Amino acid sequence: MTMKVLLLDASYYPIQIIDWKRAMILFFTDRAEVVEHHSNVEIRSTHSKFKLPKVLRLFGSFKNFSKVKFNRSNVFFRDKYLCQYCGEKFKEQELTFDHVMPKSRGGPTSWENIVTCCNICNNKKAARTPDEWGKSLLKKPKEPKWTPMMALRLSKNELSLFSTWII
Ligand SMILES: [Zn+2]
Repeated sequence: MTMKVLLLDASYYPIQIIDWKRAMILFFTDRAEVVEHHSNVEIRSTHSKFKLPKVLRLFGSFKNFSKVKFNRSNVFFRDKYLCQYCGEKFKEQELTFDHVMPKSRGGPTSWENIVTCCNICNNKKAARTPDEWGKSLLKKPKEPKWTPMMALRLSKNELSLFSTWII
């Protein structure tokens, strides 16, 4: 399918023509709203169907267009579900956010200061920096970027989104 979607900025000014997959990602990640649908094009999975957008309007500025939303799941995904201190892999519900520079000491909640951390390491680290604790991070945390290559997969009963990031 090679359907194209017109992307508008927040003030309805046309920015560019994008691929329908990218359009779906923007819509499902709450970064854009549908202004107009294709009247007769639908994406179907077993139990649901979606009308394909024809025109999308971004909520934010175009500058932020390629930004990956900062949230727990995306931080864990960026860090590949590995505790950045002990290097063990955990399930999402067993992981926590760790402020590298502790919050109590002014450390921001940002891509650059938050890492994936298991409960055990988080308790051990407490309000210390990795240096004070004598541990080093697996990888220096930074903000991930979307790549133009994004894939949409229709799974058994629901629509799920997959993306590739440059990390
Ligand atoms: Zn750990």
